[in-house]
Amino acid sequence: MEKIRKSDEEWRRLLTHEQFRVARQGGTERAFSGRYDDFYEPGIYHCVCCGLPLFSSETKYHSGTGWPSFWEPVDPEHVVAVKDTSQGVVRTEVRCARCDAHLGHVFKDGPPPTGLRYCLNSASLKFERVNLRVSVSEAEEFSHQK
Ligand SMILES: [Zn+2]
Repeated sequence: MEKIRKSDEEWRRLLTHEQFRVARQGGTERAFSGRYDDFYEPGIYHCVCCGLPLFSSETKYHSGTGWPSFWEPVDPEHVVAVKDTSQGVVRTEVRCARCDAHLGHVFKDGPPPTGLRYCLNSASLKFERVNLRVSVSEAEEFSHQK
């Protein structure tokens, strides 16, 4: 994937203070404070910095951690995992594959079918409402007509 690179100054102009702190500086929003923690509308979560589609509401679940949690990205190529030892423990950081925005961390205590828990910051995401069920049935209808 072609990378998007901008200076901190450019990102600062495009993002709010909280978005910049979390997505560009590897910060973490307070648990239960993010707008997408207790949020289950149907749609797609994009990178707040570059707009790349990252996660779908169809793989979002209630983890009780206080951060939006997913068990799978929309495309494995859209996220990258990076070893993170910053808090004195080894964790796996998750970043946007296109602009390297910090999204959160991935843990191995998630639900089936992947067993993964992508624990993300709402500040790194931008939700776009999409009627996923309608799109799927429309696609099926279309394929029947052929
Ligand atoms: Zn991005």
